[in-house]
Amino acid sequence: MHPFTTIIFDIGDVLFTWSSVTKTTISSRTLHQILSSHIWHDYERGLISQQVCYETVGNEFSLDPAEIGKAFDQARDSLCCNEDMIAFIRELKCKSNGRLRIFAMSNISLPDYNVLRTKPADWSIFDRVFPSCTAGQRKPDLSFYRHVIAEANVDPSRTIFVDDKLDNVISARSLGFHGIVFDSSKNVINTLRNITGDPIQRGQAYLKLHAGKHHSFADNDNELKENFAQLLLLEMTNDSYVFGINWPLHSVRSFLYLIGVWWTSSTTHGRGISSKVRVTFSGHRFLAHLSQENHCSRQRCSRSILTRPP
Ligand SMILES: [Mg+2]
Repeated sequence: MHPFTTIIFDIGDVLFTWSSVTKTTISSRTLHQILSSHIWHDYERGLISQQVCYETVGNEFSLDPAEIGKAFDQARDSLCCNEDMIAFIRELKCKSNGRLRIFAMSNISLPDYNVLRTKPADWSIFDRVFPSCTAGQRKPDLSFYRHVIAEANVDPSRTIFVDDKLDNVISARSLGFHGIVFDSSKNVINTLRNITGDPIQRGQAYLKLHAGKHHSFADNDNELKENFAQLLLLEMTNDSYVFGINWPLHSVRSFLYLIGVWWTSSTTHGRGISSKVRVTFSGHRFLAHLSQENHCSRQRCSRSILTRPP
């Protein structure tokens, strides 16, 4: 069983997405510059009010505070829950039978946090949310992490920390957390599944679920219906379930490389008489014929040059 008892998630650009493109005169680039300013960081720490923040930012960036307000109102409106991540966290928590605690830790001002909590999302998955505005500290300051550790009795060595900002993850790792940099929902979900579950068991379940359908794919995503990939899996796993069959491996003596409807082009019978024979098979079913009956003509078919039907 994995050692982790807690996962801490960042919110912005991890569990919620938002857009910096607004219908104001403030560009997306400027909006990001404002978010990286010291004034904004103090706003996120809850040290200054929204009004003071907008006015000070307006002076520094030569912008109208009212326009700044409009831009951030629109940015708040665009906040959208990452359903894939939320559903995965719910599943993870459910499977843990109460063993796993889920926290959120976010750099966010109080007005923004109040709006965020009105957004439709399953907030019940969190045991607790730690916004920087109420902690008086923000990531990547170590003091914010120490605050969460003390408040929630967190053991960093048994805690996974997920954030899209590398600086925040580095701070977490320096305190002993298992840090994961969020790049995409798919990658992070796969990583968390492997850390919190048994990857071998998961791989075997996948092989069984897709038995008989382990085909290859070309670069353009076209599926190649052949047995080669499945035979590689068979050799690696020594288990015939990759074909969706239950025979002992030693009974498999021959196989067909291709799957589908094909014509033999040069099947020879008796005294050199050639004929065209239509061969219809679907991988494992024909394999069954070969291994169980060892029929001569069928074996000859398997050695013939097969071509696609016109
Ligand atoms: Mg973030």
